[in-house]
Amino acid sequence: MGNLLHKERLQGVNEALVDITEKAVEQLSFDVTVSEGLRTIETQQKYVAEGKSKTMHSKHITGYAVDLYPIVNGSIDNTKFEQLSIQMKKQAALQCAIIEWGGDWKTFIDKLHFQLNQKKNGL
Ligand SMILES: [Zn+2]
Repeated sequence: MGNLLHKERLQGVNEALVDITEKAVEQLSFDVTVSEGLRTIETQQKYVAEGKSKTMHSKHITGYAVDLYPIVNGSIDNTKFEQLSIQMKKQAALQCAIIEWGGDWKTFIDKLHFQLNQKKNGL
């Protein structure tokens, strides 16, 4: 069972998304660290200016997105994102929710990004 590190960074994030994240990590054999959850408009403007984000309509601003890194032996393990995304989607499905993974995006791949799809969820 993996541990969710830096949980305090989930403050202000949608409760269902927090729950999905916690349950997904419990199913994993490695740890996951929260990089970012809720984001201010000011920070988002900075990210867009720096090219780190492409939109001012980021789900981070409304608390419907989290950025997560798989951690193995204290370091980020880029080979584990796929497993993490599978669990996130699976746990969401159990709650009749849909998680969209930035790793599936075609134009701007963002592997650490997970968001609740509001349209499909009717949230
Ligand atoms: Zn993100």
